Amino acid sequence: MSIVDTNQRMVIFGECMVELRSTQRESSVSIRDENTDNNLMAKSFAGDTYNTAVYLKRCLPSSSISYLTAIGADFLSDELLFKMGEHEINTDLVFRSSSRNLGLYMIRNDNEGERTFAYWRNQSAATQTLNIMKGAEFACDWFYLSGISIAILDDEQRATLFELISSLKAKGSKIAFDPNYRARLWSSQEDAKYWTGKAYAEADLAFPGADDHLMLFGHTNADEIFSYLADKQIEEIVMKNGAVGVHILRQQEQCIVPVERVEQVVDTTAAGDAFNGGYMAARLAGRKPVESASYGAKVAATVITYPGAIISGDAFTNHIPSL
Ligand code: ADP
Repeated sequence: MSIVDTNQRMVIFGECMVELRSTQRESSVSIRDENTDNNLMAKSFAGDTYNTAVYLKRCLPSSSISYLTAIGADFLSDELLFKMGEHEINTDLVFRSSSRNLGLYMIRNDNEGERTFAYWRNQSAATQTLNIMKGAEFACDWFYLSGISIAILDDEQRATLFELISSLKAKGSKIAFDPNYRARLWSSQEDAKYWTGKAYAEADLAFPGADDHLMLFGHTNADEIFSYLADKQIEEIVMKNGAVGVHILRQQEQCIVPVERVEQVVDTTAAGDAFNGGYMAARLAGRKPVESASYGAKVAATVITYPGAIISGDAFTNHIPSL
């Protein structure tokens, strides 16, 4: 994989939502006193592919990252656009829906550190991205998407997406894919398997997660995942498995990269997304796969020691060496 070019253009496709998170842990008291400060919510913006875009750009500021999505005409959509500007993510492929809003999700933390999510995303503008962009053309060195990017689309748009991927590949683009399986977004597990398999078959770089493969395919170890992927002709496979380690399969060679376990995990949101961003940034900067996995793991380890998907720029630069 010759990706040593820190100026490459990457297009990352998916959905960014409003994230509302309680600023204090829920307790029986706060539930009773429902108008107290215990109900204050912190607002931010997040979504799996968006998180990857932000961390990739932070790790490799010379890269050019465009986020492909649709947002609404609401004020939160305006705020997201502004935020993307702050993160220096290009907004040339952000399309606007006149009738739909940004999706939203809310996280509740309980006293044991467990999190519960509620979503309002079924009617979001991003679910219509390919209808709204209506064949607008672009070129890129890398096109990155996840299983969630596919899951939120209807079948017609999914077909359009794969036509887009074919035309990008014909022009020389490489495809990166993370399956990120979320059962609730799919009408059936069979549907999820079908489209995930189709995306893997287009990928040059894939980021299977152990949990995703267990839930979607029933795979229980790296060998089962790699044998499922064997006929997909993926040049580089980087399998994540929490603190257990990262398995890499490239040019028929398999290796395991150890991960230093974080004992005081604060919030695992975006661990995998941050890993992917760090890994791709390091590869674009010319690092070898093993070194890139260690770098991606460091990015992920930092992100999970802070609350929320996107940690502050200061916290990030205090821990992560630039490439
Ligand atoms: P996902 O978030 O996609 O489910 P994982 O749980 O495998 O993916 O986590 C992604 C990456 O985050 C891992 O490859 C690892 O680098 C890092 N990570 C996750 N949990 C821990 C942990 N407890 N300690 C250190 N690193 C972790």
